[in-house]
Amino acid sequence: MKIETITICGGGNAAHAIISIIRSHFSGKLNLFLPYGNEAAYFQKLIDEKGFLTATIGDNKLYGRPDKVSKLAKDVCKEADLILMPLPAFAHEQTLLQIAPFFKEEAIIGAIPARSGFEYAALKILKDNLKEKVKIFGMQTLPWACRIKEYASKVDILGKKGSVGMAAFPHKITSELASFLTQLLDLKIEPLPNMLTLSLANVGQIIHPGIMYGLFKGKEELKYRKEEIPLFYQGVTKEISQTLKTMSDEILFLTKEIKNMDKSIDLDQVLGLKDWLIYSYKDSIADKSSLQSCFVTNSAYKGLRAPMKKIDNDYFLPDFQARYLTEDVPYGLVVTKAIAQLAQVDMPIIDEVILTVSKWIGKEYIRGGYLEGKDINDTRIPQNYGINNLEEIIIY
Ligand code: NAD
Repeated sequence: MKIETITICGGGNAAHAIISIIRSHFSGKLNLFLPYGNEAAYFQKLIDEKGFLTATIGDNKLYGRPDKVSKLAKDVCKEADLILMPLPAFAHEQTLLQIAPFFKEEAIIGAIPARSGFEYAALKILKDNLKEKVKIFGMQTLPWACRIKEYASKVDILGKKGSVGMAAFPHKITSELASFLTQLLDLKIEPLPNMLTLSLANVGQIIHPGIMYGLFKGKEELKYRKEEIPLFYQGVTKEISQTLKTMSDEILFLTKEIKNMDKSIDLDQVLGLKDWLIYSYKDSIADKSSLQSCFVTNSAYKGLRAPMKKIDNDYFLPDFQARYLTEDVPYGLVVTKAIAQLAQVDMPIIDEVILTVSKWIGKEYIRGGYLEGKDINDTRIPQNYGINNLEEIIIY
């Protein structure tokens, strides 16, 4: 696999982490596509001043700088052999639409993380732009927790996962690409057999909406003082862990039904939530005996609190516009529900979570038990891309 130029799209937390990590393992050209706000100007200054973006990982520091940055896709995408999109899922389509006219036909384009249904949107946009040979991939999660400390200057990389799954289309490129990404990102990238695994095994769709539902259902208007803001992951109670387990079981049941319909499809990597936590965080979890203890005793989750918005000097309310809902529902849970609808599988608890939290974010996805709510077109369900049966989902 000959990768001489990499272009990163976006300049958020994940992009900051990736720039410094890649720069430590890649000597080719590194470009940035930054159409958003005045992000390009900050990175241009870094380049002009020959400064470095510094990433702190524990006691280590990594230093990186892109070679070229632009607000315009045509300036930074034409030579790219690999295009990375470490972006929130709601920015994937608009980014793909901007870059598609300019990149090489053989380029590889990947979303980190993919969330659910990435392949439906990506392949449609690429096909519309006559990019028949292009290759896409998605990663199951972002491998790190990361926060910008100072824009285009400093980023903290906190937790690092042991390994992360990656699926590609066409499948034949997966294992070579996984080896390349393992070196590039300095982390074990596990090849997954297909992109459907990514959608079904998107654990963010269970954890984030599920915990928000558990923490705040019936307490939507309750005000919290700063010190009372609940821990998010480590605040998982027995009851919340039961909701999460049922959501996970509903997805596992759907997975089993899909396998019954087509014995040739490999969905073995769609793990139950507890198994995934142990697999991904084996060294950080002190007590692996129950799903609840996997959250509560996981040091990677230590101290992380529920998303809140300040309403006055003393009080906070839950922030229902947080990514945990605005990304993980339309680009996660609703996509899985849509696949279940095609497979004629019921998901009563997932329905209940979607119905409840979509009201909180001011959206309607489900009406009369079906994905026919007024905002369904804003989601990444396969039906929005003309895919209306399970056979086509399996072919993807
Ligand atoms: P972020 O909010 O820092 O990224 C925002 C960046 O995306 C912006 O700076 C901009 O460059 C781009 N962007 C945002 N909206 C855009 C738009 N409408 N059009 C074009 N570009 C736009 O997000 P992040 O923290 O880097 O997260 C990236 C992905 O990783 C998300 O899916 C997130 O859920 C996931 N994730 C992040 C973390 C973390 O610790 N940061 C952890 C786990 C998963």
